[in-house]
Amino acid sequence: MTAHIIDGKALAEELRQGFKSRVETLTAKGHKPGLVVILVGEDPASQVYVKNKVNGCLAIGMHSEKITYDAAVDQETVLKKIAELNADPAIHGILVQLPLPKHFDEEKVLEAISADKDVDGFHAENVGALAQGNPRFIPCTPYGVMKMFEQGKVDLNGKEAVVIGRSNIVGKPMALLLINAGATVTVCNSRTRDLKFHTSRADIVVAAVGKPKFVTGDMIKPGAVVIDVGINRLQDGPDAGKLCGDVDYAGCLEVAGQITPVPGGVGPMTITMLLANTIEAAERKAGLR
Ligand code: NAP
Repeated sequence: MTAHIIDGKALAEELRQGFKSRVETLTAKGHKPGLVVILVGEDPASQVYVKNKVNGCLAIGMHSEKITYDAAVDQETVLKKIAELNADPAIHGILVQLPLPKHFDEEKVLEAISADKDVDGFHAENVGALAQGNPRFIPCTPYGVMKMFEQGKVDLNGKEAVVIGRSNIVGKPMALLLINAGATVTVCNSRTRDLKFHTSRADIVVAAVGKPKFVTGDMIKPGAVVIDVGINRLQDGPDAGKLCGDVDYAGCLEVAGQITPVPGGVGPMTITMLLANTIEAAERKAGLR
């Protein structure tokens, strides 16, 4: 059996096309959705992510701007800027690109963003709302994965789901979303004693580990839905320099029922859901939801 491939790139494009009319409606009512992305330092990967976020907004008619600081900037300067943006009615979403330099208190910076503009969904208020099953802003990557389940017509209710990874950005919110959807959820981490025991009985496996080709075909149950969140750049071998996920795609393709590729899977969905969250924030402000 060859797995059905859930095409994140195509789904992302379809969703973005659908966003355009919502942006037009908001703009006509004087609430053009606006996102500000704050970047501290010159990390090349972060620079690419930020550029893609800003361009993603502009492509569907939203307002977006990037504010950059030298890596040596003091935290107070950034907090002051966040306070200004919190008060700016033209801005509906504020995002601070992570990671921040070591002299920053990341939690303090994230908590400084108004919960109403926290389109990354990392503010404690929004994490709490998600945990209570009443989410306001869902972190973009797991939100994108939920859309992929919808696209693949995956009924989560009563299913066994295993999330590999427990980060605040991916693993934990992913687990909460699956719990809220009625799945029976196991969350694994680097100390899990027998990972294969868990993954091989799961109907759904979400890999968010950060290790290339970590999940192999022998670890999954035939017919399982395998979601690959990982983005790794291969260091050596014939494919050095190429992107690869946390899943051994070729090995799992013949075993899984559905699978997401890398690239072209979860990645394009993450920015798409950032756009969705910003539009939702503007719609709330405009009284449209
Ligand atoms: P992270 O913060 O480094 O978390 C990795 C998690 O994997 C940790 O919870 C860690 O456990 C767990 N882990 C490590 N080794 C393990 C093992 N042998 N067995 C089981 N669990 C293990 O990473 P992240 O931010 O969640 O990101 C994960 C991956 O997703 C990365 O490749 C990242 O680039 C990618 N990512 C992609 C997108 C996207 O848009 N597609 C967005 C965000 C992240 P401990 O907690 O015990 O250390």
